[in-house]
Amino acid sequence: MSQRLDKFVSHATGLPRSEVKKRLKQKHISINGKIATQGKTAISETDLVTLQGQELHLSFPSYFMLNKPAGYTSTREDPNHPSALDIIDEFCNPPLHAAGRLDADTTGLLLLTNDGQWSHQVTSPRHHQKKVYLTTLAKPLTIEAQQLLCKGVMLRGEETPTLPGQVERVNDQLIRLTIVEGRYHQVKRMLAAVDNKVTALHREQIGTITLDSHLKPGEYRRLSHQEVGVFL
Ligand code: URA
Repeated sequence: MSQRLDKFVSHATGLPRSEVKKRLKQKHISINGKIATQGKTAISETDLVTLQGQELHLSFPSYFMLNKPAGYTSTREDPNHPSALDIIDEFCNPPLHAAGRLDADTTGLLLLTNDGQWSHQVTSPRHHQKKVYLTTLAKPLTIEAQQLLCKGVMLRGEETPTLPGQVERVNDQLIRLTIVEGRYHQVKRMLAAVDNKVTALHREQIGTITLDSHLKPGEYRRLSHQEVGVFL
């Protein structure tokens, strides 16, 4: 995200905007080595701003929950999809990343932060944070398949079975599946392992953080101190 140069300099230095204006006139401020004169110039997280040669940094941790819409990637590296990270219209330094990815076609709770230690707590396999997925199936879930998911299934190409899942049956083709790992495409592969197929996937919860029901797809909010605190 971008923000105005004068606002950034004022935040990073504590100088009032009137003083920043003077410094701009005096040609004391540069962006990526070039003198800046306009306070309204838009800068992004990757720009290097200096005041009389001194680098300015404004880094503070930020935490958001987003109801990720379908069609968005949770990284910045996928050239085929827009990034969910760009939906967050706030200036964050360092830039945001997702704490626990979702496939482009998966919707629901995506946690975004620029606090690497915090996202490690959320995603580290050692912490076994539970993730709850509302999972729509191509065909009714058999009792045998349900039992297998609850016991742990062997995913194609892997050598150890998944840890036990929990299945809450909403109806025959809609389940709430809780898992405590984050293997690649885990839910889709677990259902494939029991001869079924996921047709829609929506994450509702990570640890004790639940997606707000009033957040429409594409909407987000900052996490409360209490929500941030559960992973500290
Ligand atoms: N499991 C999947 O298969 N996809 C996701 O996006 C998340 C969990």
